[in-house]
Amino acid sequence: MALNLIMLGPPGAGKGTQAERFARSRGIPRVSTGDMLRQAVQAGTEIGRRAKSIMDRGELVGDDVMIGIVKERLDRDDARAGFVLEGFPRTVAQASALDTIMTGRDPLIVIDIVVPEAELVLRLASRLICEDCGFNAGPGNNDGKGAAADKVVLPAANPMVSEMVAAVRASSEAQRCRRCGGRLVQRTDDNEAIVRERLKVYRAQSEPLVEHYKGRPTFRSIDGAQAPDRVAADLAHAIESAGNHRGPMGTPEMGTARSGVRP
Ligand SMILES: [Zn+2]
Repeated sequence: MALNLIMLGPPGAGKGTQAERFARSRGIPRVSTGDMLRQAVQAGTEIGRRAKSIMDRGELVGDDVMIGIVKERLDRDDARAGFVLEGFPRTVAQASALDTIMTGRDPLIVIDIVVPEAELVLRLASRLICEDCGFNAGPGNNDGKGAAADKVVLPAANPMVSEMVAAVRASSEAQRCRRCGGRLVQRTDDNEAIVRERLKVYRAQSEPLVEHYKGRPTFRSIDGAQAPDRVAADLAHAIESAGNHRGPMGTPEMGTARSGVRP
Protein backbone atom coordinates (compact mmCIF):
# COMPACT_ATOMS: atom_id res chain seq x y z
CA MET A 1 0.00 0.00 0.00
CA ALA A 2 1.10 3.55 -0.66
CA LEU A 3 2.24 5.67 2.29
CA ASN A 4 0.12 8.77 1.79
CA LEU A 5 1.01 11.02 4.63
CA ILE A 6 0.12 14.50 5.80
CA MET A 7 1.77 16.25 8.70
CA LEU A 8 0.09 18.81 10.89
CA GLY A 9 1.81 20.83 13.59
CA PRO A 10 2.56 24.40 14.64
CA PRO A 11 5.52 26.47 13.51
CA GLY A 12 8.52 25.34 15.57
CA ALA A 13 7.29 21.74 15.92
CA GLY A 14 10.00 20.44 13.60
CA LYS A 15 7.58 19.30 10.87
CA GLY A 16 9.92 20.16 8.02
CA THR A 17 12.85 18.25 9.50
CA GLN A 18 10.75 15.20 10.31
CA ALA A 19 8.95 15.22 6.95
CA GLU A 20 12.28 15.40 5.13
CA ARG A 21 13.83 12.62 7.22
CA PHE A 22 10.89 10.29 6.87
CA ALA A 23 10.43 10.89 3.15
CA ARG A 24 14.10 10.24 2.50
CA SER A 25 14.11 7.05 4.60
CA ARG A 26 11.20 5.63 2.58
CA GLY A 27 12.19 6.96 -0.81
CA ILE A 28 8.96 8.90 -1.29
CA PRO A 29 8.74 12.59 -2.19
CA ARG A 30 8.27 15.27 0.44
CA VAL A 31 5.98 17.82 -1.11
CA SER A 32 5.54 21.28 0.34
CA THR A 33 3.20 23.89 -1.06
CA GLY A 34 6.04 26.31 -1.84
CA ASP A 35 7.94 23.68 -3.84
CA MET A 36 4.79 22.59 -5.65
CA LEU A 37 4.00 26.15 -6.70
CA ARG A 38 7.51 26.68 -8.02
CA GLN A 39 7.46 23.37 -9.91
CA ALA A 40 4.05 24.01 -11.45
CA VAL A 41 5.14 27.44 -12.64
CA GLN A 42 8.38 26.01 -14.02
CA ALA A 43 6.61 23.15 -15.78
CA GLY A 44 4.32 25.70 -17.41
CA THR A 45 1.19 23.61 -16.94
CA GLU A 46 -2.20 25.26 -17.35
CA ILE A 47 -2.59 25.59 -13.57
CA GLY A 48 1.03 26.71 -13.24
CA ARG A 49 0.40 29.52 -15.72
CA ARG A 50 -2.67 30.60 -13.76
CA ALA A 51 -0.65 30.62 -10.53
CA LYS A 52 2.10 32.65 -12.18
CA SER A 53 -0.25 35.33 -13.45
CA ILE A 54 -1.79 35.64 -9.96
CA MET A 55 1.65 35.94 -8.32
CA ASP A 56 2.84 38.37 -11.02
CA ARG A 57 -0.01 40.65 -9.99
CA GLY A 58 1.26 40.41 -6.42
CA GLU A 59 -1.80 38.51 -5.22
CA LEU A 60 -2.08 35.41 -3.08
CA VAL A 61 -2.80 32.11 -4.77
CA GLY A 62 -6.31 31.06 -3.70
CA ASP A 63 -7.69 27.67 -2.67
CA ASP A 64 -8.89 26.58 -6.11
CA VAL A 65 -5.51 27.07 -7.77
CA MET A 66 -3.62 25.59 -4.82
CA ILE A 67 -5.87 22.53 -4.83
CA GLY A 68 -5.29 22.12 -8.56
CA ILE A 69 -1.54 22.24 -8.01
CA VAL A 70 -1.69 19.66 -5.21
CA LYS A 71 -3.78 17.35 -7.41
CA GLU A 72 -1.36 17.69 -10.30
CA ARG A 73 1.62 16.99 -8.03
CA LEU A 74 0.08 13.95 -6.33
CA ASP A 75 -0.89 12.51 -9.73
CA ARG A 76 2.72 12.37 -10.82
CA ASP A 77 4.46 8.99 -11.07
CA ASP A 78 6.89 9.51 -8.21
CA ALA A 79 4.00 9.97 -5.75
CA ARG A 80 2.38 6.65 -6.64
CA ALA A 81 4.15 4.79 -3.81
CA GLY A 82 3.31 7.60 -1.42
CA PHE A 83 4.20 11.13 -0.38
CA VAL A 84 4.69 13.33 2.64
CA LEU A 85 2.54 16.42 2.19
CA GLU A 86 3.52 19.40 4.28
CA GLY A 87 1.88 22.81 4.61
CA PHE A 88 -1.34 21.53 3.08
CA PRO A 89 -4.17 21.36 3.95
CA ARG A 90 -4.36 24.47 6.12
CA THR A 91 -8.13 24.80 6.17
CA VAL A 92 -11.10 22.45 6.35
CA ALA A 93 -12.08 23.47 2.81
CA GLN A 94 -8.65 22.36 1.58
CA ALA A 95 -8.93 19.15 3.63
CA SER A 96 -12.26 18.32 1.99
CA ALA A 97 -10.77 18.99 -1.44
CA LEU A 98 -7.87 16.71 -0.56
CA ASP A 99 -10.33 13.97 0.44
CA THR A 100 -11.80 14.26 -3.06
CA ILE A 101 -8.35 14.10 -4.66
CA MET A 102 -7.65 10.95 -2.60
CA THR A 103 -10.75 9.13 -3.85
CA GLY A 104 -9.67 5.74 -5.16
CA ARG A 105 -6.22 5.95 -3.57
CA ASP A 106 -4.93 4.45 -0.33
CA PRO A 107 -6.22 6.36 2.69
CA LEU A 108 -4.38 9.34 4.13
CA ILE A 109 -2.34 8.84 7.26
CA VAL A 110 -2.59 12.02 9.32
CA ILE A 111 0.11 12.85 11.87
CA ASP A 112 -0.34 15.75 14.26
CA ILE A 113 2.91 16.83 15.93
CA VAL A 114 1.93 18.27 19.30
CA VAL A 115 4.21 20.64 21.22
CA PRO A 116 3.20 22.71 24.28
CA GLU A 117 3.05 26.45 23.61
CA ALA A 118 5.72 27.22 26.23
CA GLU A 119 8.18 24.98 24.40
CA LEU A 120 7.30 26.49 21.00
CA VAL A 121 7.78 30.03 22.29
CA LEU A 122 11.14 29.04 23.71
CA ARG A 123 12.23 27.38 20.47
CA LEU A 124 11.09 30.18 18.19
CA ALA A 125 11.94 33.19 20.34
CA SER A 126 15.41 31.96 21.23
CA ARG A 127 16.33 31.22 17.63
CA LEU A 128 19.41 33.13 16.54
CA ILE A 129 20.94 33.96 13.20
CA CYS A 130 24.38 35.18 12.24
CA GLU A 131 24.28 38.90 11.51
CA ASP A 132 27.02 38.53 8.89
CA CYS A 133 26.16 35.44 6.85
CA GLY A 134 22.58 34.68 7.94
CA PHE A 135 23.45 31.19 9.22
CA ASN A 136 20.66 29.75 11.35
CA ALA A 137 22.17 29.00 14.74
CA GLY A 138 21.24 28.81 18.36
CA PRO A 139 18.88 26.73 20.45
CA GLY A 140 15.74 27.35 18.44
CA ASN A 141 17.28 25.96 15.29
CA ASN A 142 15.28 22.90 14.33
CA ASP A 143 16.18 22.68 10.68
CA GLY A 144 18.22 19.57 11.38
CA LYS A 145 21.54 21.25 10.64
CA GLY A 146 22.29 22.30 14.20
CA ALA A 147 22.52 19.97 17.15
CA ALA A 148 21.42 22.63 19.59
CA ALA A 149 17.72 21.85 19.32
CA ASP A 150 18.29 18.62 21.24
CA LYS A 151 19.47 20.52 24.25
CA VAL A 152 16.45 22.66 25.00
CA VAL A 153 13.74 20.10 25.65
CA LEU A 154 11.93 21.57 28.61
CA PRO A 155 9.27 20.30 30.94
CA ALA A 156 5.88 21.18 29.45
CA ALA A 157 4.05 24.34 30.52
CA ASN A 158 7.00 26.05 32.13
CA PRO A 159 5.61 29.31 33.53
CA MET A 160 8.98 31.03 33.29
CA VAL A 161 9.22 31.03 29.51
CA SER A 162 10.35 34.65 29.20
CA GLU A 163 13.15 34.07 31.68
CA MET A 164 14.14 30.85 29.92
CA VAL A 165 14.19 32.57 26.54
CA ALA A 166 16.36 35.33 27.94
CA ALA A 167 18.75 32.88 29.59
CA VAL A 168 19.08 30.65 26.53
CA ARG A 169 19.63 33.68 24.34
CA ALA A 170 22.18 35.22 26.66
CA SER A 171 24.20 32.01 26.73
CA SER A 172 24.05 31.73 22.94
CA GLU A 173 24.94 35.34 22.31
CA ALA A 174 28.31 34.75 23.85
CA GLN A 175 28.91 32.25 21.04
CA ARG A 176 29.95 33.03 17.52
CA CYS A 177 28.70 31.80 14.17
CA ARG A 178 30.04 28.32 13.45
CA ARG A 179 30.40 29.17 9.80
CA CYS A 180 32.00 32.62 9.71
CA GLY A 181 32.58 33.69 13.32
CA GLY A 182 30.04 36.53 13.08
CA ARG A 183 27.83 37.73 15.94
CA LEU A 184 24.58 35.83 16.60
CA VAL A 185 21.44 37.97 16.87
CA GLN A 186 17.72 37.36 17.29
CA ARG A 187 15.61 37.38 14.15
CA THR A 188 13.45 40.48 14.13
CA ASP A 189 10.28 38.48 13.46
CA ASP A 190 10.94 36.15 16.38
CA ASN A 191 10.23 38.22 19.47
CA GLU A 192 8.00 36.57 22.02
CA ALA A 193 4.87 38.68 21.35
CA ILE A 194 5.03 38.05 17.60
CA VAL A 195 5.67 34.34 18.15
CA ARG A 196 2.64 34.06 20.47
CA GLU A 197 0.47 35.86 17.91
CA ARG A 198 1.64 33.51 15.15
CA LEU A 199 0.82 30.50 17.33
CA LYS A 200 -2.63 31.93 18.09
CA VAL A 201 -3.35 32.28 14.37
CA TYR A 202 -2.13 28.72 13.82
CA ARG A 203 -4.36 27.35 16.60
CA ALA A 204 -7.45 29.07 15.23
CA GLN A 205 -6.75 27.55 11.81
CA SER A 206 -5.68 24.10 12.88
CA GLU A 207 -8.22 23.18 15.55
CA PRO A 208 -11.04 22.66 13.01
CA LEU A 209 -8.57 20.74 10.86
CA VAL A 210 -7.71 18.34 13.69
CA GLU A 211 -11.48 17.96 14.28
CA HIS A 212 -11.86 17.05 10.61
CA TYR A 213 -9.35 14.21 10.89
CA LYS A 214 -9.27 12.93 14.44
CA GLY A 215 -12.15 10.49 14.17
CA ARG A 216 -10.31 8.52 11.50
CA PRO A 217 -8.54 5.23 12.26
CA THR A 218 -5.45 6.59 10.52
CA PHE A 219 -5.08 9.74 12.65
CA ARG A 220 -2.24 9.82 15.19
CA SER A 221 -0.78 12.54 17.35
CA ILE A 222 2.80 12.39 18.53
CA ASP A 223 4.79 14.30 21.13
CA GLY A 224 7.03 16.80 19.37
CA ALA A 225 8.58 18.13 22.60
CA GLN A 226 11.37 15.57 22.55
CA ALA A 227 14.78 15.35 20.95
CA PRO A 228 14.49 15.04 17.13
CA ASP A 229 15.63 11.38 17.14
CA ARG A 230 12.91 10.42 19.62
CA VAL A 231 10.32 12.31 17.58
CA ALA A 232 11.49 10.48 14.45
CA ALA A 233 11.19 7.11 16.22
CA ASP A 234 7.68 7.92 17.50
CA LEU A 235 6.72 9.15 14.05
CA ALA A 236 7.80 5.92 12.37
CA HIS A 237 5.94 3.90 15.00
CA ALA A 238 2.77 6.00 14.65
CA ILE A 239 2.82 5.69 10.86
CA GLU A 240 3.24 1.94 11.06
CA SER A 241 0.40 1.64 13.55
CA ALA A 242 -1.86 3.90 11.47
CA GLY A 243 -0.96 1.92 8.35
CA ASN A 244 -2.28 -1.23 10.01
CA HIS A 245 -5.66 0.41 10.41
CA ARG A 246 -6.51 1.17 6.83
CA GLY A 247 -8.29 -1.58 5.03
CA PRO A 248 -9.99 -0.83 1.72
CA MET A 249 -13.09 0.12 3.67
CA GLY A 250 -11.22 1.52 6.66
CA THR A 251 -11.99 0.04 10.05
CA PRO A 252 -14.78 1.24 12.31
CA GLU A 253 -12.61 1.75 15.38
CA MET A 254 -11.97 5.28 16.55
CA GLY A 255 -8.71 6.93 15.66
CA THR A 256 -8.05 8.44 19.04
CA ALA A 257 -5.16 6.18 19.95
CA ARG A 258 -2.19 8.30 20.83
CA SER A 259 1.27 7.17 20.09
CA GLY A 260 4.47 8.21 21.72
CA VAL A 261 2.88 10.69 24.09
CA ARG A 262 4.68 10.76 27.38
CA PRO A 263 2.61 9.68 30.38
ZN1 LIG B 1 28.08 33.66 10.00
